[in-house]
Amino acid sequence: MTSWQQAERFLARTHEVQNQPPALENYNLFAQDTALQEALKREGASWARDSVAAFGELAGQAQTIRLGFLANAYRPQFEPQDRFGHRTDLVEYHDAYHQLMALATKHGLHASPWAEPGAGAHVARACRYYLHTQVEAAHGCPITMTFAAVPALQHQPDLAAYWLPKILKNSYDPRNVPDGEKQAVTIGMAMTEKQGGSDVRANTTYAYPVGKEGPGQAYELVGHKWFVSAPMCDAFLVLAQTEAGLSCFLLPRWRPDGSKNPLQIQRLKDKMGNVANASSEAELRGALAWMVGDEGRGVRTIIEMVAMTRYDCMIGSSAGMRQATVQAVHHCHHRAAFGAQLIDQPLMQNVLADLALESEAAMTLTMRMARAMDHQHDEHERAFARIAVAVGKYWICKRTPEHSYEAMEVIGGSGVMENCIMPRLYREAPINAIWEGSGNVQCLDVLRAVAKQPDSFAAFLKELNRAKGSHANLDAAIAALPERLKTAQQQPFYARQLVELMARALQGALLQQHAPNAVADAFCSSRLGVTEHMGYGRLTDPTAARQILSRAWPA
Ligand SMILES: Cc1cc2nc3c(=O)[nH]c(=O)nc-3n(C[C@H](O)[C@H](O)[C@H](O)COP(=O)(O)OP(=O)(O)OC[C@H]3O[C@@H](n4cnc5c(N)ncnc54)[C@H](O)[C@@H]3O)c2cc1C
Repeated sequence: MTSWQQAERFLARTHEVQNQPPALENYNLFAQDTALQEALKREGASWARDSVAAFGELAGQAQTIRLGFLANAYRPQFEPQDRFGHRTDLVEYHDAYHQLMALATKHGLHASPWAEPGAGAHVARACRYYLHTQVEAAHGCPITMTFAAVPALQHQPDLAAYWLPKILKNSYDPRNVPDGEKQAVTIGMAMTEKQGGSDVRANTTYAYPVGKEGPGQAYELVGHKWFVSAPMCDAFLVLAQTEAGLSCFLLPRWRPDGSKNPLQIQRLKDKMGNVANASSEAELRGALAWMVGDEGRGVRTIIEMVAMTRYDCMIGSSAGMRQATVQAVHHCHHRAAFGAQLIDQPLMQNVLADLALESEAAMTLTMRMARAMDHQHDEHERAFARIAVAVGKYWICKRTPEHSYEAMEVIGGSGVMENCIMPRLYREAPINAIWEGSGNVQCLDVLRAVAKQPDSFAAFLKELNRAKGSHANLDAAIAALPERLKTAQQQPFYARQLVELMARALQGALLQQHAPNAVADAFCSSRLGVTEHMGYGRLTDPTAARQILSRAWPA
């Protein structure tokens, strides 16, 4: 070999890849999550431990993780008509999306607490949903809507008798065919119009009876919907005006005679996040639908669905925070800078532990709400859930965008790249906060709950008082709440201050009761002190920070 050839061979080997983490895959999301394991047991679903653990293994497999990347890399495509000009309203997805949907429905994420009700049914499902949406969140939209539609549909037993057996099936049928030809269906929701999103009273879509009027009867709907997510769902719960006011309808995509129901998709939304899930704009051109619940009481009917979607937003955003935390901690275990592993560097420990703290607090509150869902026959749990879902939805979703950005920064430049999950988590983060009742709407809902159902605030205080005396900051927060409530009731200008304190106090109270001292005290010291929490990396106890970290990600 000539010296030139030797030099060439040397030059071709420019470097060895060093100081980069291995991909975080083929791990068990449940086995690595001590706090979640404790929550599953504490909130009443010990019986599901083995199946949730098996699901955690499945969610962490490299091929499952890959489905999330593929489903987002290939955006859903809309085809209004076939090549002959027949209206099809077809949205085509990458096969990875369908595989994720199939996985979710196979494991009952869309319906298990209704299909198999019982102690811990919601908790077990919440744990699985929490694991699954760490891998891919966008397809959680139709899964959640299908899950959430059930309580609203039960307002109309004759319709429920036909649709529920198909909803409760643990399978997925993506075919674009009439519901009569399917054993398993998914359900969407179409409330929002251009002139009225949060304020659905401004809706102009109207419904006229085909024959008889009233609950369970057929109507035709004319109008538009500005947001219809997952438009390939088999049916939608829709709000439309009748002479008696806003009413709720079930609108299938096909008519019983097998023809297409004129719910015509105009175009797909070009979304910054939630990419794997299609969202559309649609025209209703005499679309056939059946009234669900009482005429003129549509908001009251559909709010049952909305309440469940808000609860699922808590699960989804908590899951986003957990995945961001895990990615950040994993990275720091394998990355060195300035002569030491990042995980061992004090300032990084502070940032990571603070991220882990927020994540554990979110999950703990979420799983407590899952327990409340399992005990809706109990007066206290019902009153507590009425207010705490609004508080939790507001706060957990609000905390997620900043959390995902901070975790991205921990990973550094590679965390910005699309072949890392962080950009996806970051773009997903604000969405849960906006849909299903944006921040202000949640805060006003808390005030409405207190006004209409004062026992909800009493139930909330009762929950807080369970941890009274455990930390001075928590005691001060509990003591401050009645005054903050009074102020916010007089001036809604201050409603966020009220709800944020309620949320932090509830998280602090739950952690004081159930988490190790290092976690609970760090939370109450950093989130319930006199000064407001201003971001991550401001914990004050290095020893506690290390304990929080080893709990968040056991070696
Ligand atoms: C990705 C995505 C998918 C969606 N999918 C669906 C779907 O499938 N079906 C569906 O029906 N909708 C869907 N939506 C719509 C969503 O639910 C609405 O965007 C949301 O309810 C807010 O309504 P809006 O956009 O009209 O905003 P607006 O109602 O105009 O609200 C704008 C802002 O004003 C605030 N606000 C409202 N009232 C008050 C008040 N009284 N005081 C103070 N502040 C107030 C809100 O908090 C918000 O921040 C989707 C939205 C997104 C982003």
